[in-house]
Amino acid sequence: MTRDDARALDAADPLAPLHDRFDLPDGILYLDGNSLGALPRAVPAALADAATRQWGERLIRSWNEGWIDAPQRLGARIAPLIGAAADEVIVGDTTSTHLFKAIVAALRHDPARRTVVSEAGNFPTDLHIAEGAVACVPGARLRVVDRAALAGALDDDTALLLLTHVHYKTAERFDLAAWTARAHAAGALMLWDFSHSVGAVPLDVTAAQADLAVGCTYKYLNGGPGAPAFLYVARRHQEALVNPVSGWMGHAEPFAFQDGYRPAAGMRRWLVGTPSILAMASLEAALDLWAEVDMATIATKSAALFDILAQAGAAAGLSCVSPADPARRGSHISFRADYAYELTQALIARGVIGDFRAPDVLRLGLTPLYLSHEDVWQAGEQLRDIVATETWRDPRFAERQAVT
Ligand SMILES: *Cc1c(COP(=O)(O)O)cnc(C)c1O
Repeated sequence: MTRDDARALDAADPLAPLHDRFDLPDGILYLDGNSLGALPRAVPAALADAATRQWGERLIRSWNEGWIDAPQRLGARIAPLIGAAADEVIVGDTTSTHLFKAIVAALRHDPARRTVVSEAGNFPTDLHIAEGAVACVPGARLRVVDRAALAGALDDDTALLLLTHVHYKTAERFDLAAWTARAHAAGALMLWDFSHSVGAVPLDVTAAQADLAVGCTYKYLNGGPGAPAFLYVARRHQEALVNPVSGWMGHAEPFAFQDGYRPAAGMRRWLVGTPSILAMASLEAALDLWAEVDMATIATKSAALFDILAQAGAAAGLSCVSPADPARRGSHISFRADYAYELTQALIARGVIGDFRAPDVLRLGLTPLYLSHEDVWQAGEQLRDIVATETWRDPRFAERQAVT
């Protein structure tokens, strides 16, 4: 791959015009959109409107002028990205909170089944929340096993299988339909975490017959730091499953101000408290871009970007831990090296922003909306050079920061 090869790919790239819809700093090659998506140009104006007009001028009247329906409205915009119907997705809270609600609801759904099964090495919050959720349900327990032992861990005590669809570290991707079918065959419900999948790979919860799913909006969806997360509940479960965090926004009639809790119909019952409107405004503006692209085009470009970095990594002698088959991975590439932390810092010092995942992984996010093939080629050249010249050995690259 040469710079000219990369430029030729850019010339034929149908997504290339979208780059200008993002506000990226000059001189930065941003390969961390899988951790915090870049700023869409439309967002600052949307935030300013939400603050000065909606809040400043309209004041509390804005609740009836669009604010109160934001969780459902944004859910309906995310729904096509996961293959759900508009009324099967709601936005609010965090991925962690949605996980808690979904796990407890699933455990209460069938009291004869007491075990939640998940994967060792899953994203930490998924396991931490599962640990906390089972502690809230009498008799419930969490069983965490290696990927190879997952299928064997499902039995007639399994209430829920909780898996992260694309692994945050390696980018390995589970087969959505096959694992959902395995959970169902054991009589369990399936809860997917799509935090590293939504906006990264094509998803179809309807075809897979998934029961529950959660996911982040501040990664590939570019909703902004801490943007509210989404929850999907298949329509067939919406009457039976109840939100254990029974707040007033999920009540059938919040403004009846009743003492007793009665869950709202449909997805609104999964709300807890007052939605964060400024965060919703940012996310809503960011979601506009997705109406213009299809996930098949994204996936094709993601695969091409991956190949460029896989070649550079191989030339540098780095060991790639992400699957070679594009159908079996997400939209990032990870390399394992003893000096991965120092390597990440050396790249950042040259304006190539990726991240480090302990203990030994360099992770580079591939976001087809705003990265060109040439950008990724240049990042690969820097990677090769830093490894070849051992620049990463500079002691300043070993200083640890709070967020890696
Ligand atoms: C990023 C991520 C989260 C983040 O959860 P928050 O509640 O937003 O902090 C959860 N799960 C997975 C798999 C993630 O990748």
